[in-house]
Amino acid sequence: MNAIQHTHTLQATPQAPTNKGRHFPVIVIGGGQAGLSMSWHLKARGIPHLVLEKHRVGHEWRTRRWDTFCLVTPNWQCQLPGWPYRGSDPHGFMGRDEIVQWLEDYARSFQPPLMEGVSVTSLRRRSHGTFELDTTAGAFSADQVVIATGGYHGFQLPRLADRLPLGVHQIHSSEYRNAEQLPAGAVLVIGSGQSGCQIAEDLHLAGRQVHLATGSAPRTARFYRGRDVVDWLADLGYYDLPVHEHPLKEGVRAKANHYVTGRGGGRDIDLRRFAAEGMALHGRLLEVEGMRLRFADDLKANLDNADAVAESIKTTIDKHIAAKGIAAPEEARYTPVWVPPADLPTTVDLNAANITSVIWGTGFRSDYRWLEVPVFDGRGYPRHERGVTSMVGIYFLGLPWQYTWGSGRFSGVARDAEYLAGQIVGRMGAWMPGHHDATGERVNAVALGS
Ligand SMILES: Cc1cc2nc3c(=O)[nH]c(=O)nc-3n(C[C@H](O)[C@H](O)[C@H](O)COP(=O)(O)OP(=O)(O)OC[C@H]3O[C@@H](n4cnc5c(N)ncnc54)[C@H](O)[C@@H]3O)c2cc1C
Repeated sequence: MNAIQHTHTLQATPQAPTNKGRHFPVIVIGGGQAGLSMSWHLKARGIPHLVLEKHRVGHEWRTRRWDTFCLVTPNWQCQLPGWPYRGSDPHGFMGRDEIVQWLEDYARSFQPPLMEGVSVTSLRRRSHGTFELDTTAGAFSADQVVIATGGYHGFQLPRLADRLPLGVHQIHSSEYRNAEQLPAGAVLVIGSGQSGCQIAEDLHLAGRQVHLATGSAPRTARFYRGRDVVDWLADLGYYDLPVHEHPLKEGVRAKANHYVTGRGGGRDIDLRRFAAEGMALHGRLLEVEGMRLRFADDLKANLDNADAVAESIKTTIDKHIAAKGIAAPEEARYTPVWVPPADLPTTVDLNAANITSVIWGTGFRSDYRWLEVPVFDGRGYPRHERGVTSMVGIYFLGLPWQYTWGSGRFSGVARDAEYLAGQIVGRMGAWMPGHHDATGERVNAVALGS
């Protein structure tokens, strides 16, 4: 096993080849921010557990973000349990490497019982109600299991990708690092969600000719009336709004994020300004016909709708300021700096435009096929209530809008982990102390790392 156990203080022997010492009251799968948050709460309650992480703490941030990546959310929203952001720039935006460092420091701060380099390959329920986990380090079992494996397991790639000519270099947004990694020539970025827009900006600033196929993602201003829009929305209680009180209810989970950036201390992403500076904007990519790309005639609508959302957020802030009598500087509303010409072509010839690379900013898909427990809906999405599934002892943590906007982010996972810890403790009465599993083996009740 190549588990790197620099942060763990495991007093049991999870590497043992037999089942002895491999049963835990709780196993947490995934050592990202969600898994670590869960571990912090379990540890605070003295609940023996084990965290199994396929790679290393911070893996997603370390390996799947571009070089100039920085948070879109302000640093003050980084609020992991026992680990609030304590740096000197609460209204700034940590870069990729700072985020990785911050997560590594978090793990070091409380020494979770963590095994890195261990992938869970299947999870099933045993007849007597405990759970069996097959892993790359052998089998484990647990009374309760928290699945904190994130939601971004694979690329969401439209089959159109298959039809691009072989000579075109194609990557997913999570594989993008910098402009230099791409062959010379123009770059087509597909998708105007957060990643697509930020990568388009990165390439644009690097002097590359960029084509951007837009979609229906909304945008928000970074600052308004003297403050970060996130700060205003926090005062408005948006980040505490539970999913069942959101106007879209659970439908909000499928909505694209607003595009904006934390780069350079934070600023708007104004695609119209990029267009005025030479970026080629298009509507949604519809077809690939040989060397010819065909786009929908919806660029104007996409830009208008994104602006309308940004302006509606400002209206909400204006109302809040007026209602509370807050002294905030006035600020002029946005006026478009570019509008698509009526005769904007909806086709582009790859050769004529010298497009040599395509970056798919079309998002991710989750893959839970290795979980052999009946807790999914017809689309393969976990069915849960605040992370608690219908199968006793199986929980999810870190899902987007699991409970609030921040559930799948640094700002809200602490609340969800605390809630799940309460649920887990509530169910432990039946199991502990000194519970024996079906093999007659006493559960590992060593207070790990405490
Ligand atoms: C491009 C992008 C930008 C983002 N920007 C922000 C932002 O600005 N602010 C913010 O708050 N959030 C942001 N997020 C959202 C969020 O913070 C991240 O997605 C975060 O990584 C989620 O943490 P997690 O612990 O739930 O999942 P992950 O970080 O994905 O961690 C899951 C861990 O589980 C491990 N794992 C997976 N499967 C197994 C298995 N079978 N066995 C063992 N281990 C396994 C993985 O190796 C991984 O380390 C962004 C996300 C993306 C994709």
